Amino acid sequence: MAATLLDTVWDLHTVRRLPNGQTQLFIGLHLVHEVTSPQAFAMLRELGLRVRFPERTFATVDHIIPTDGEPRPYRDAMAEQMFVAVERNVRDFGLPFFDRSTGRQGIVHVIGPELGLTQPGMTIACGDSHTSTHGAFGAIAFGIGTSQVRDVLATQCLTVERPKVRRIEVNGRLGGGVYAKDVILAIIGKLGVHGGVGYAYEYGGEVFDHMAMDERMTVCNMSIEGGARVGYVNPDATTFAFVEGREYAPRGDAFERARRWWASIASPPDATYDDVVSLRGDAIAPMVTWGVNPGQVIGVDQPIPSPEQYEGNESVAIAEALAFMQLRPGRSIAGLPVDVAFIGSCTNSRLSDLREAAGVARGQKVARGVKALVVPGSQNVRALAEAEGLHEVFQAAGFEWRGAGCSMCLAMNPDKLVGDQICASSSNRNFKGRQGSPTGRTLLMSPAMVAAAAITGVVTDVRAWSHVSSRSSPLRSAPSPLRSAPSPLPEGEG
Ligand code: SF4
Repeated sequence: MAATLLDTVWDLHTVRRLPNGQTQLFIGLHLVHEVTSPQAFAMLRELGLRVRFPERTFATVDHIIPTDGEPRPYRDAMAEQMFVAVERNVRDFGLPFFDRSTGRQGIVHVIGPELGLTQPGMTIACGDSHTSTHGAFGAIAFGIGTSQVRDVLATQCLTVERPKVRRIEVNGRLGGGVYAKDVILAIIGKLGVHGGVGYAYEYGGEVFDHMAMDERMTVCNMSIEGGARVGYVNPDATTFAFVEGREYAPRGDAFERARRWWASIASPPDATYDDVVSLRGDAIAPMVTWGVNPGQVIGVDQPIPSPEQYEGNESVAIAEALAFMQLRPGRSIAGLPVDVAFIGSCTNSRLSDLREAAGVARGQKVARGVKALVVPGSQNVRALAEAEGLHEVFQAAGFEWRGAGCSMCLAMNPDKLVGDQICASSSNRNFKGRQGSPTGRTLLMSPAMVAAAAITGVVTDVRAWSHVSSRSSPLRSAPSPLRSAPSPLPEGEG
């Protein structure tokens, strides 16, 4: 039986098999942010321990950062306290820290790849559920909790259950106005929010083969929303072209050796899977969530479901979600008024996302009464977007143009919904209260769909915009200020 990428990478990083069947797994890269790390560092201090591999540990600030340029000290005492803690911890433990003064600050899942820290064949951990993003490179990447952050800091190892592998094949071509976000929402809609529990999702087929890296990141990012802690795409020429030349990527001969190894770990055509699921790309419409989890999702041209179409607990859950969202079954989701439009988050805040949204917003005006904001995922994304004038397109249309951070994805910062506002959002979670108001309502959709909703003031099928979408791969050719210094990581990190 031929091994999958997960099998190969897992075996190479296995320190030992534990008596309870779990694996002690070596972690190649540990990404740290301000929210889940303070207690972990405090525990290290209590135990008198150092960070075991500081050269594999990198920190940034993203969740609590005000994106409107508010200076330090922050008005929010808790946010200020977290910032002070991360500054002290990186200083005391000797860790690289990408804060705003470096020009490299941003959402942890945006900066890891753009700095070239994220590489194929790695095991990666971070105290944030959406660490699965890094699987887009053919890495095995886990979101972990605070006590596991402590474990990785102290030992560079995690104790984890080996997942089964489900291959998710999407073949055919995506239509205009249909994006990576729609693909992953369609997958979660089909398999459910718990469908991936116990599995790693391997994404394959023509649709993923043709995706650029930022699109693959969008898909892998939301694996966790389908219950799969890990999601990955096998590395290929697109992956290698993205990594080459980035600040922490191997260089010269070392890159060539790494590239050969990276190519060798991809799942072969005869790999054996625990499950295989297939979808047709041409059957996927622009998707919109109507409920309180990402699996409660429909095509923008479909009616809102009725509890009567379902039985038992599912019927009850749908009725409760509809009541919270104040939606009527059978109605179209298109035409639903929105109060806020948010383009950002580690799912959809990269340059190509902003390009797609700007393509919709160009020459238009945000509808009266709609608050619209664009929050680039990193300082680098912001600089690249400004270099090509995207900020001017957004600002001319009436969008706010912000600094890098998580912003309204989870509202641990000043960007929050008020009351029962409805937000068209390019983020990844539509849980009750997620965007800062206990009664706030979130509709997940692609950045282009968010831009269309901002302009019309209602949920809108972006396919009506005749010029959408090239689904191009801008990051493969975009000049990056982050392509420069030599790599401190061992070559071909595995
Ligand atoms: S953007 Fe949202 S999901 Fe992503 S790291 Fe920030 S808070 Fe977490």
